[in-house]
Amino acid sequence: MNRGKHALIVGGSLGGLFAASLLRRIGWTVTVFERSAGALASRGAGLGTTRELVETMRRAGARLDVSMAVPMTGYVWLDAAGKVVHAQERLNASSTWSRVYLPLREAISEADYRAGMALERVEPNGDRVIAHFAGGAVAEGDLLIAADGSLSTVRRQLLPAVAPRYAGYVAWRGIMEEREVPPAIRQAHFDKIAFSFPDGEMSLAMPVPGQGDDTRPGHRRYYFIWYRPADTAALRGLCTDADGVHHGISIPPPLIRPELIRAIKRDAAERFAPDLAAVIARTEQPLLQAITDLESPRLVIGRVVLLGDAAFVARPHVAAGVSKAALDAAALADALAGEADIDGALARYERERLDFGRRIVAHGRRLGTLLDGKKLSPAQWTGDDAYRDPRRVLRDYGAPHLVHDLTAQDLVA
Ligand SMILES: Cc1cc2nc3c(=O)[nH]c(=O)nc-3n(C[C@H](O)[C@H](O)[C@H](O)COP(=O)(O)OP(=O)(O)OC[C@H]3O[C@@H](n4cnc5c(N)ncnc54)[C@H](O)[C@@H]3O)c2cc1C
Repeated sequence: MNRGKHALIVGGSLGGLFAASLLRRIGWTVTVFERSAGALASRGAGLGTTRELVETMRRAGARLDVSMAVPMTGYVWLDAAGKVVHAQERLNASSTWSRVYLPLREAISEADYRAGMALERVEPNGDRVIAHFAGGAVAEGDLLIAADGSLSTVRRQLLPAVAPRYAGYVAWRGIMEEREVPPAIRQAHFDKIAFSFPDGEMSLAMPVPGQGDDTRPGHRRYYFIWYRPADTAALRGLCTDADGVHHGISIPPPLIRPELIRAIKRDAAERFAPDLAAVIARTEQPLLQAITDLESPRLVIGRVVLLGDAAFVARPHVAAGVSKAALDAAALADALAGEADIDGALARYERERLDFGRRIVAHGRRLGTLLDGKKLSPAQWTGDDAYRDPRRVLRDYGAPHLVHDLTAQDLVA
């Protein structure tokens, strides 16, 4: 029934690739249009995983094996002296962006993937949709899937009032080789997520696959992410390069001003346990990104569908943005499978994914409560202020009410 239907997919990152594979499997013809001309660069270092992510990769026909993830056994909260304040067992696993991207990309034929195609605008045309690209190219399909990320060109055209909202804090991230990690961390905490909560801030560090996605002990890497409040003026300063050029809400890593990198290393020495401070000090090229929330009130506009970060962006504390994009794609394929009434199928997709998106964004916000710069004593706490207690953050870290932790067992099946 879906034979002959054609989906135009804008964005060839993880959300677009999941959508392409899963729609092909229900009989649709797909074409992915990706703005970047070359191979997509890694979007960062570590990646939280879920069972849903792996199940959807399997369903998409992506190659999988146990080397995809580094298993972890739990969480620890370390104070500024390096003492364990709180520990919690929890089996889960970390991976990397490329370890998810490459198998998905391999599952899509060259004929279905068009790189260097920047969408400029979409044009509804009854039960068809026309896409216009830079340089004048045009494509037409039965459906257009906007998987073009948080700054989605498609969403900005069709829902111009919807935009990412700055959460009031930034993430500094970095990575180093396992052998360079201070021995005290390697011996005591390397298989866990190590959290720290210096006054009004939050950081976590964890093992991830190493060079060439190597997960053998000794060959892995160690990844940290440090959330720090910054008002909008401070954010502007952080994202301005040495020539005074302002880069928006993130900045290409080599353009981060050296004095800012020196400053975070100095601050780390004052705020973290010495071994964690050493991890930050030894990171040559940290990455910097503003944290945002995005909620779209609609996911379907005629024959245009929003998916992944184009639809909802939850704060990274949920560690499940990629899983959400995978589940969006799976829900779309399920709704469309064998369905003659495409509009009815899209309405079902929208109902289901609006609910999930709202819940995961709300949870990300809750987990970030202690980063809002307010100084409240526990006696003043109400509602989500319970998340000012790091124990509560650790208990609900990720989105355990919405997705499941990945264990090594899930990779064997
Ligand atoms: C600091 C940080 C840490 C994170 N950690 C995790 C984690 O641990 N686990 C996790 O699951 N998620 C994590 N995420 C979230 C995750 O990175 C995103 O949810 C995920 O990348 C969304 O995928 P996407 O395909 O929807 O969008 P994107 O990956 O943003 O891809 C959008 C694609 O569209 C292309 N594009 C854009 N505009 C156009 C256009 N006009 N025409 C054609 N192509 C276009 C872009 O080039 C890009 O390839 C994290 C995010 C951040 C910021």
